[in-house]
Amino acid sequence: MTEHFVPAFDVAMLAHIEDLEAIASSTTNDFESILGAYDRAGSLLSKVAGVYGNYTSSLNTPDMQLVQTEMAPILSRHNSKTYDIPGLFEKIESMYQVKDEKLKSGDWTAEQSRFAERVYIKFVRMGAKFDATTKAEYADIQAELATLQTKFRQNILKDEEEWELVLEETDFDGCPADVIAAARQVAIDKKKTEPNVYVMTLGRSMVEPFLSYSTRRDLRKTVFDAFSKRGESLISPDRDNLKIATEILRLRKRQAQLHNKGSFADYQFEDTMAQTPEAGMKLLNDVWEKSKDAAKREREMLESFVSKKGETLEGGIQGWDWRYYAEQVRLAEFNFDENDMKPYLSLDSVTNAAFDVSNKLYGLKYVKRDDIVAYHPDVNVYEVHRNDKLVAIFLHDNYARPYKGSGAWMSELRTQTKNLAPGTVPIKAIPIVLNNNNFNKGSDHTLLSFTDGVTLFHEFGHGHHGMLSDATYEYLASTSVLKDFVELPSQLMEHWLSEPVVLKEHAKHYLTGEVLPEDLIKRFKAAELFNEGFNTIEYTSCAMYDIALHSLPDYNDDFDLAKFEQDYLKEIDMPQGIIMRHRPAHFAHLFGSSSYASGYYVYMWGESFPFSV
Ligand SMILES: [Zn+2]
Repeated sequence: MTEHFVPAFDVAMLAHIEDLEAIASSTTNDFESILGAYDRAGSLLSKVAGVYGNYTSSLNTPDMQLVQTEMAPILSRHNSKTYDIPGLFEKIESMYQVKDEKLKSGDWTAEQSRFAERVYIKFVRMGAKFDATTKAEYADIQAELATLQTKFRQNILKDEEEWELVLEETDFDGCPADVIAAARQVAIDKKKTEPNVYVMTLGRSMVEPFLSYSTRRDLRKTVFDAFSKRGESLISPDRDNLKIATEILRLRKRQAQLHNKGSFADYQFEDTMAQTPEAGMKLLNDVWEKSKDAAKREREMLESFVSKKGETLEGGIQGWDWRYYAEQVRLAEFNFDENDMKPYLSLDSVTNAAFDVSNKLYGLKYVKRDDIVAYHPDVNVYEVHRNDKLVAIFLHDNYARPYKGSGAWMSELRTQTKNLAPGTVPIKAIPIVLNNNNFNKGSDHTLLSFTDGVTLFHEFGHGHHGMLSDATYEYLASTSVLKDFVELPSQLMEHWLSEPVVLKEHAKHYLTGEVLPEDLIKRFKAAELFNEGFNTIEYTSCAMYDIALHSLPDYNDDFDLAKFEQDYLKEIDMPQGIIMRHRPAHFAHLFGSSSYASGYYVYMWGESFPFSV
């Protein structure tokens, strides 16, 4: 399979360039022959890139990683070239210049005018106005960034893959049965089939429950230390992501300089709703001060719990203690244990709940197609119907497994469009949307924590964005919106899972079918906001760090990324016992690609909408 990508890309990139050259030499200068054609250009490349992107994120085997290393700079150079086809920018600019007048006269729709503007901005941001020497330097920077960012992601994947902690069943004292079962499954997958062998990995879905429930402080510390040092030469000195990230920052700085911007943050924010790093930072600062107070109160609750029990913790509450004692306090103060809810939140019932909410909100119906085989046997494929019409294909890839990136995300194999080339079969207008999660697969049933359930709903919200897209042009379809709008549909969707009406209808015991008891819902609701200070600090510190880091005027030879993290967290008075949710050496949002760099605040920006719309 992997050997097909390079030749497929060769053909597709060539076809893309030919499409663009045809536009540049077009003798007609109307919307259809310039922008209509631009929107359709490179359709073969989009197809290949969709499949490739899915493999590199969901099934990035060692073979595939070699292809990815080879292709990263080549694809980057191709991308740069598409903004430098002789005569093409002039055509794009000519469209941009007439967009207001065309809209006013009624010749163009608002969407067409918006399209002309977005493409023009993209060309300028890719350096279309630079002279030839600067263009060449810019393309070099992009290609180097692509290589470094690929390496950064692969290093995390390898660290997560290779690190292991071999344990016995008694080492899991306090842990829920599904975590123990998952650790046993990993041992079997790693061919450690002797009885009583269990393996902990660095997947978040294993680490977080272990840190929340293991009574063994020593083991919690071991797991926490390794988890927080992913990418920091944890296993091999060749995988020094701090060094790679520093190189990335220097290249981005130069990129911003070529655009006459003082910092990469200035360059990134220019094309967002927030517009300036200061606006993004202001939102975060307001939240920060309040969450520090909340975290302080939470910490006091944890400390008083510890002293009431007559325990002493050497060094006080540390990073490897907070989650554990938070669950203890939740139980003591709110009489709520998240594990009591898990049997009611099987993957099947949460998926059905998401389908039902999707149906009630948007009229979508999901029909499972067992006969369609996806790229992995665990992936479920659905036809999505609205008013008895096929509107999308939906692929649901839920489980953690080797060679799959961590986290959860939505992607597409095909984006919605109405702008098909003449003679194209109409099915090509139908989007193919994927949702990836990283849940531990249970042996019979997979039971989710409430947080896992919220993640599934969150990605479903992005899924809706792709499936319900109704744009004429692919260029504006689906999630191709300003970056700080993109988290709105997902934030709106994720709130639905905790609605009592949804829980009552769908949260049924996986063995008995019993409905989630009213009393449990009440206790869950009462405990829901406890520890939100911790969660908000974990996230907000990352978002503030990101903007601060990308706002620095330079990263000269003395610049030390590890020291900057320390100094910055001290400066903003990071509460003790909490660390950034993603530390620099594995902060893939920032260094795995450029799209979320200086843009991690968008989750908070998106969160600030649902309560105001
Ligand atoms: Zn999201």
